[in-house]
Amino acid sequence: MSDSPIKTPFVPRYFRSQAYTAAEQLSEEQRAELRERIPRLLQEKDAVLVAHYYTDGEIQRMADQTGGCVSDSLEMARFGAEHTASTVVVAGVRFMGETAKILTPHKRVLMPTLEATCSLDIGCPAEQFAAFCDQHPERTVVVYANTSAQVKARADWVVTSSIAVDVVRHLHESGEKILWAPDRYLGEYVQRETGADMLLWQGSCIVHEEFRALELTELRKYYPQAEVLVHPESPGAVIEQADVVGSTTQLLKAAQNSSAPQLIVATDAGIFHKMQQLAPGKELIAAPTAGHSASCRSCAHCPWMAMNGLVNLASALEQGAPEVHVDPQVVAKAQHSLGRMLDFAAQRSAQVLGVGDA
Ligand code: SF4
Repeated sequence: MSDSPIKTPFVPRYFRSQAYTAAEQLSEEQRAELRERIPRLLQEKDAVLVAHYYTDGEIQRMADQTGGCVSDSLEMARFGAEHTASTVVVAGVRFMGETAKILTPHKRVLMPTLEATCSLDIGCPAEQFAAFCDQHPERTVVVYANTSAQVKARADWVVTSSIAVDVVRHLHESGEKILWAPDRYLGEYVQRETGADMLLWQGSCIVHEEFRALELTELRKYYPQAEVLVHPESPGAVIEQADVVGSTTQLLKAAQNSSAPQLIVATDAGIFHKMQQLAPGKELIAAPTAGHSASCRSCAHCPWMAMNGLVNLASALEQGAPEVHVDPQVVAKAQHSLGRMLDFAAQRSAQVLGVGDA
């Protein structure tokens, strides 16, 4: 790319033929041993592995090859709930483990590490959020799935990014004012789409807010035939340039159906593992971030998702820990707000299943 006409400080990263894999520091022998040990442990422990699209390609392969699933957080939880295994191992971030526990309180839910969290979850502490809600009792509280179990329990509705616009439009048409949390970019997008009166909590995803609009404009000049796929946790000026705005599953479907030779993708780089499988003939290009300046915090890969590896996955199965626990009262309340979304989707024949969230 040394002769690139792009006059910006970034260098696009390419994902042509190599699957995306994070660099867990293991020798080939160690890796091979873990690849053999983990499926055996899953069987011995009557466990199923569910993994998010943003985890390492190695983890995604393991989930696929052992009869688990690779998906968004809601589908992960639903798959785990419907599977016959008594233990669900969630490779993702903590709120995903909690969502699995909320939908499956009678099952044991393990995670490779409970340290894997999310800037949206961290940025919306339950007590402060409850106080914020108490200050605005006239508003209907709608929260994104990327929140703690306690925040879900405080909400009237939980929504995924795939159904947020439909739910808020429905509430708006019913004359309701909304209190939205935690992602402000997704909130602004929903507000623009629906015209609803929305009071926004000011959270953000450290991965998606790094995408840069100016550099994206330059990149599109370089690839004029490319389609731009953007997750709505990205800044508005990036969303404005999108051909498709959608949840992880919606972006994967768009990639599969696209006739464009290249796709510029603004979401976590972990998605390229599955996207390559579904759209093998396409050139996949990561949308530019601030990654080549000193301000990069994520470089389009979630540092918490990257904490899931083969070593701690094997350990979780061997030790039966760490286990996700959620207070039963919190579970009951959170089931109510999650259930509203599921009922809404069922009534509208909207397909939440398979078109879920982040
Ligand atoms: S990618 Fe963003 S929204 Fe997803 S877990 Fe990481 S910080 Fe949270």
